[in-house]
Amino acid sequence: MQRPYAIVVHGGAGPHRSGGLAERMQGCETAAARGLEVLQNRGSALDAVQAAVVVLEDHPLFNAGRGAPLNAAGEVELDASIMDGRDLRAGAVAAVQGVPNPVALARAVLEDGRHVLLAGDGARAFARQHGVALCDPGDLVSDAQRQRWRERFGTVGAVALDARGFLAAATSTGGLFGKLPGRIGDSALIGSGTYADASAAVSCTGHGEAIIRVVLAKLVCDHIGAGEAPGAAAREAVDRLGARTAGEAGLIVLDRSGRAAWVTNAAHMPICWLDSSGGRVVEA
Ligand code: ASP
Repeated sequence: MQRPYAIVVHGGAGPHRSGGLAERMQGCETAAARGLEVLQNRGSALDAVQAAVVVLEDHPLFNAGRGAPLNAAGEVELDASIMDGRDLRAGAVAAVQGVPNPVALARAVLEDGRHVLLAGDGARAFARQHGVALCDPGDLVSDAQRQRWRERFGTVGAVALDARGFLAAATSTGGLFGKLPGRIGDSALIGSGTYADASAAVSCTGHGEAIIRVVLAKLVCDHIGAGEAPGAAAREAVDRLGARTAGEAGLIVLDRSGRAAWVTNAAHMPICWLDSSGGRVVEA
């Protein structure tokens, strides 16, 4: 009998409901369906989360890839990370320009294996050497200007459990609108925005400076590893973040038996959960 598999995708925690929410929920569902297809074909959780996140990086309504906002210098700098819970291999990129799919670059860093996190021009040079698609940094800027009205948040992420029982997580963002050039958020930091081990996989969204201070993703995984249910671990961690930093955040989590949870203290966070038995939730 095949083991159960599942995927959860988020489209970013945001401060208030706005136009475009229905489209963002639809985008999350399309991305989750893409990831589920990978899992159905006996692909790995790692491939599934990457495939789902690429769909959202290519979608102009999300704060990642082509929909990213401008920093204070009028440029787009992107952060992303991906982690394989099977063996703790991880890859991440920070403040990278002209890379439309930073999660693919993070995956290349993971596969290369020498380092976990590459930033800026070095990350872009690594993309060139490893055949990861590049574009003119200006191509992402003009898209972003059209998105100016959008939410402060809208980062994307995915967690998956594959049919072999392995977990993975990935997160990708343009960061906060108007951030200082060179600012790196939680989405590039393994343990803060993204974490996966043998017990659980977590992708976070929200105020990166708050998420980094409580090391949110690893906090949730450690509690699940110690026996807590995903829903309780996620709620407790987001409550702790709110109490200790007054920040807003949200996260999605899957554990190794396929139990899923999503929690935010922001006004909304579009998510989609799909699993191998036909289970489906799309909400914000
Ligand atoms: N966490 C992201 C950051 O601070 C933003 C977001 O989730 O929308 O860079």
